[in-house]
Amino acid sequence: MRPSPGAIAINVNFDSLNEAFGFPTGFRDPSFFEPFDRFEALAARHGAKLTLFMIGRDMESPEVFARVRDWAGAGHEIANHTWSHPMSLGAMSESEIADEIGRCHDIIARATGREPRGFTAPAWSTSRAVMKELLKRRYLYDASLFPSCALYPMVARIALNHWHDPKRLRQSLSRRDWGLALMSPRDPFLASADWRPARADQDAIVVLPLPTVSRLDVPLWHTVGYVLGWSRHESIFRRVLAESEAPYYLLHPADFVAAEEVPQGHSHALERLSVPGRTKLERLASALALARDSGRVFVTMDELAAGVRARAGRSA
Ligand SMILES: [Zn+2]
Repeated sequence: MRPSPGAIAINVNFDSLNEAFGFPTGFRDPSFFEPFDRFEALAARHGAKLTLFMIGRDMESPEVFARVRDWAGAGHEIANHTWSHPMSLGAMSESEIADEIGRCHDIIARATGREPRGFTAPAWSTSRAVMKELLKRRYLYDASLFPSCALYPMVARIALNHWHDPKRLRQSLSRRDWGLALMSPRDPFLASADWRPARADQDAIVVLPLPTVSRLDVPLWHTVGYVLGWSRHESIFRRVLAESEAPYYLLHPADFVAAEEVPQGHSHALERLSVPGRTKLERLASALALARDSGRVFVTMDELAAGVRARAGRSA
């Protein structure tokens, strides 16, 4: 794989409505169909391939399974976002972690004919055990690092959103990575199983942290525009485009599913679902245009990670 200086990836953490609604039996989640097609067409007009972090359980639907196969065939990267999206992944036992990562890994490999090489933990909840499992499976990269103090208010917000759902509330607060946000490098690095920068003789995985401009600022993340305002978001985005070694732009299905497309009658804690589809598409178009006009080349996350590895003198 070629190194890619001056690159940027579009990272979709595919947090489905299916997951948000608690995987209801027989539910056909629109996020995999028309809303996605609209977003994909927009990305294609800007010359961007996508990296799609899939929840394995969504792919039990034969229709979704076929879509993922087609997306891989169209050149998008399919990556692992666990089997069932537990927000407490990092606090789970080694065997539960292996199961969450392994089942998603296997269903992606079956759908695409290729083993996934990238991973993101739900709610960025990670741990040494997660890292150990990824290294064992020879993953190229991990994008589970949130290197900013904003982790703490973000976790508090997620917990508040799940206040009436004791199971999810508990999940959102059980983590083993409270210190990582303050201590880990903010730039991409090669990590060993203990999350420290790897020595040359150690197995290593490329860590692609959420792009940040400082430890005190919120990371670059599309949702932040809806929460803190688009001008602050744009100034962070411009700085990341100017300064970052291997940046990516994070978004979620809630950023492209229009309010009018959300099936009624399901309780959930998703934000920004009431924003009209047209506004959402305009926001995404502005972000893609900003990235394209910076002169960076759109690549997939594995190409971004391969570039980091190559610059560190290791083969991909
Ligand atoms: Zn997620």
